[in-house]
Formats: sequence, structure tokens, C-alpha cells
Amino acid sequence: MRPRLPSPVGDVADPWLAGRGVELRLKRDDLIHPLVPGNKWRKLAPNLRAAVEGGHTRLLTFGGAYSNHIRAVAAAGAACGLSTVGVIRGDELADAPRNWSLARAEAHGMELAFVSRSAYRALLRGLGGDGPGARQALEERWGHAYVLPEGGTNVLAARGAADLVAELPGLGPGDVVCCAVGTGGTLAGVATALPAGARALGFAVLKGAEGYLDGEVAELHRRGWGRTFGNWRIEHGYHGGGYGRVPAELEAFAAEFGERHGVRLERRYVAKLLWGVYGLVERGELPAGSRVTAVITGPPDPEPGRTAVSRGCAGA
Ligand SMILES: *Cc1c(COP(=O)(O)O)cnc(C)c1O
Repeated sequence: MRPRLPSPVGDVADPWLAGRGVELRLKRDDLIHPLVPGNKWRKLAPNLRAAVEGGHTRLLTFGGAYSNHIRAVAAAGAACGLSTVGVIRGDELADAPRNWSLARAEAHGMELAFVSRSAYRALLRGLGGDGPGARQALEERWGHAYVLPEGGTNVLAARGAADLVAELPGLGPGDVVCCAVGTGGTLAGVATALPAGARALGFAVLKGAEGYLDGEVAELHRRGWGRTFGNWRIEHGYHGGGYGRVPAELEAFAAEFGERHGVRLERRYVAKLLWGVYGLVERGELPAGSRVTAVITGPPDPEPGRTAVSRGCAGA
């Protein structure tokens, strides 16, 4: 599992931004690894090390039907010789044809366990609490395992994400490192590693997460670093209606950005982040003199049509 590190950084040449005195560059973490890309690689690497050093032979984690984290754990586990279990939200999926994402996880040997939404919530709630009950229930059902939370965020994951800052030399006042926020693990890590004057700005992809997500990030800081940090903030105005929702305006933005700058944008996270950056520049909240580094935390989903066509051509 050899990663491409440090990941490349590319400047975005955009006269509209230049006219407003804002510099934008893309930190291409999407190119780190084809099967374990982006922040998933950064967040998993320290956890895999801990699992192997701790003598574990099995990883167990949680996610939805299209979870990037689930696919990444399946591939990373296979590469490290660890068996993997994915507890998947939604028992109606058990008997449905596998979507491309779950099919890929299974192809890497992951055992999928489908549970009802309520059982899923109860499991996660139990793991978040202090009692050993939920963990015991998991082990009774799926064996002794190194448990990764939903989305893969824990203190080790945040430390892994923090490593990307060391690949951005020369940060200082005026620098804003931006990323999408799912669980907040990536943002939390980035904030801890910034030099004085630089700031971290996250864009929530979930609706109605004000307060909650900010609390999660602060809690990671307290648990992992024993303190809080005042150099970060989460913007909640660009979730586009909620997780997985892509309103027409966002789709138009993402398609145009992709065409202009030759990067296809992942829609659930990355497009919202860049949409938000442009929105805040327009509103003057990222003022002249800002240098924005947008972390491209993952690649776009495969385009089913295209895959089919290229396979057909190759087979012809
Ligand atoms: C998982 C994921 C995120 C969310 O990262 P968090 O650390 O959970 O905030 C962002 N972007 C992409 C592409 C992802 O797959």
C-alpha cells in the first residue's frame, strides 16, 4: 500500500479570485492512493499501525451504503492482512443487489453485516458511552476486533490528518486551510498542526449540525491534545440541503469548476467545500490577501456509464 506522499499542491488560476485578491491552491490528497484515497488514507494509517502493533487480526467499523470509509477500510485491511467487518446502516440492503460501493468492499474480503437503522444508532450510542456493553456485544457477534468508529474519526485519525500540514511549508497569517467536514476529524487534526496566524476553516456537509460538530472537534482536541484550539471554525451555510444532497446550483458550480480547472470534483464533500470557498470570497469573508488551501479529501465516485463503455471498448 505505497501512498503518494507528500500529495501534490496545485495553484488554481482564476481571474475572478485574482480580482478579489484571493489565492487558491488545491492540496491533492485525492491522489494519495487509488483504493484508500484522501483523508481516509491519512486517518487510517495510524490506526492500522496501532491495530497491527496491538496484535489485532480483525478490523470492525461502521458506515452507510455508499461510505467512502467502508471501502477504504476494506481495501486497507486486505493490504495489511487484517480481516474486516463492515456494519452497514439499513437492513433493507441485505437482500438488495449490491451497489458499486458495497460490492467493492466485499471484493476486498469485507464481511458486511446489515443492521436496522435503530440498531445501528443504538450500537453507535453504546460505543460512544463509557460502558463496555456495546463493545462486548460486538465481539460476541463478530469476534475480537480493533474497532474504528463511523467515519473513522478518533484521536489517532486526527493525528494522521494533521500530517498534511507539514506538507504545506510557509503557512502563516493570511493562510486559511479549508476542508469539508463530515465527522470533523480532518479539520480537528489540521487545526492542531497550523503555525501561529494560520487558520483552519471547515465546511459542514450535514444539515443542522451547528453546535454538534463544533463540539465533536473540541472534544477531540481535549481528548488528544488536552486543550482546545482557537484557530478554526466550521461554516454551516453550504451543505446544500444535507448529506448527499446536491442542489442544481451546486451541481452547476461543480461542473463548471471541473471543466475550467481540469479536476472532476467529488460531490458529497469536495464540491461543497469549494462552493463554500467561492461563496465566502463573494461575501467578503475571505478577504483580499487570503491564501486559501483547499484540501481535496477524496476523488469523485466512478461514473457507471463511463466504466461500462471503457470495459466494452477494451473487450472489443
Ligand atoms: C470521509 C470524507 C470526508 C469527511 O472527513 P471527516 O474527517 O469525517 O470530517 C471528507 N471528504 C471526503 C472525500 C471523504 O471521503
